Amino acid sequence: MKAVYYPEPNKFEIRDIPMPEPGPGEVLIKVRSTTICATDMKVFIGNWPGGKFPHTPGHEWSGDVVALGEGVNKVKVGDRVGVEVHVGCGACEPCINGMYNLCENYGNRALGHQHIGFTVPGGLAEYCAVSVKAVHRLPDGLDYDQGAMTDNIGVALHAVERTGLRAGENVVVIGPGAIGLLALQCARAMSAGKIVVAGAGAGDAERLQTALKYGADEAIDVLAVENAAEAIKAKFDGRGADVVIEFAGSEPAAKLALSCARRGGRVTLGGATGPGRNLNIDLSVIVRGHLDVFGSVANPRWVSARGLRMIERGDVDVRPLMTHHFNSLDDFGTAWRMTHQKEDGAIRVMIHP
Ligand SMILES: [Zn+2]
Ligand SMILES: [Zn+2]
Repeated sequence: MKAVYYPEPNKFEIRDIPMPEPGPGEVLIKVRSTTICATDMKVFIGNWPGGKFPHTPGHEWSGDVVALGEGVNKVKVGDRVGVEVHVGCGACEPCINGMYNLCENYGNRALGHQHIGFTVPGGLAEYCAVSVKAVHRLPDGLDYDQGAMTDNIGVALHAVERTGLRAGENVVVIGPGAIGLLALQCARAMSAGKIVVAGAGAGDAERLQTALKYGADEAIDVLAVENAAEAIKAKFDGRGADVVIEFAGSEPAAKLALSCARRGGRVTLGGATGPGRNLNIDLSVIVRGHLDVFGSVANPRWVSARGLRMIERGDVDVRPLMTHHFNSLDDFGTAWRMTHQKEDGAIRVMIHP
C-alpha cells in the first residue's frame, strides 16, 4: 500500500510499504480523509519525545473499518470511524483515571500504549491498523472530512474545559489556527460571554476573518498594535479576560496569554507541545495576578466523543478549517508546503488516499 514515509528526520518519500495487519484488539482502517498540522513538523524534524525513524505520520484522520483483529466487538467491518490518537496502556494510574494522554508508559507499544502517527504508524497512508480504543463511530450526519477532526475537537474542547469556563465568562483565544478556531467555537457553544481572538500578522488575517464568522465578537492582530496585552485588556474594560486559551505555540503568544487575563483569571497554554520554547516573563504577572495556569496536552477519556456530538448538532462547524483537498497521497508534498507556509489561506489540507 502507498504511505507517507519518513526514512530519517527532515526527509519524506511516498513509498509502497507492507499492508498492516490488525493485531489483537486492533482494527484495520481504510483511510478516507487525512490531514497535516503544525505538530507533524515537530515529528518530521525529530523534535518529538518518543518519536522514531523510519516513520509513517498522520494523526488527524478518518475512514472505514475493513478488518477486525482478535477480540474486537466495539465496531464492525463497514463502520465509519474517526480516530483519536492517544491510546494509553490502560494500567498506569493516569490511564486508570481516564487520563491516557498522560500515560506513564508513553511509547511502550508492548504495554499497550500507542500514540498514533507519533510513536506508531499513522494515517497518512492508504490503510492503518490501530487499537480499537482509538476509534469513535462517526455519527450518521458526519462525513469523513468532519470525522478527520475527531482528535482536534477533543484537543480544543479539553483545553476549554481545563479552564472551567462558566456561562457568560469572557474569553480570549490566542492563535487562530485549526485548534484555536475550534476552541473558539466550543467556548461559544458553552455560552461564553465576549470572545476575542488574537492572531499575529498578515498570515493570520484571513483566519481572524474566519474567527469573526464563527463566533468571535472581535479579532485583533497583535502585531498591528503597540502593546498587545493592553489592547486586548481594553476590550474587556481594561480588566482582561476571565479565561485565556492559547494555541499559537510561541513564547510571545504564551506571554501574551498570561498578560491579558484578569487578576484571578484562568489561562490554558496548549500550543507548545514540543520542547524548546522558553518563557521569559515577570513572575508577578502570575503571582500578583493570582492566575490559575493550566498546561493542556491532547485529550483524555471520551472528550472526542462529546466533541463529535457538538459537530453533529451543528454547535461546532469544522468545515471552514478544511480549505483544500487532494485525492492522492502523491500530493502530500504540495499539501505539506501549503499547510506550513499557510499558502492560499490553507488551514487544513485534506488528502483522500
Ligand atoms: Zn495535529
Ligand atoms: Zn498508561
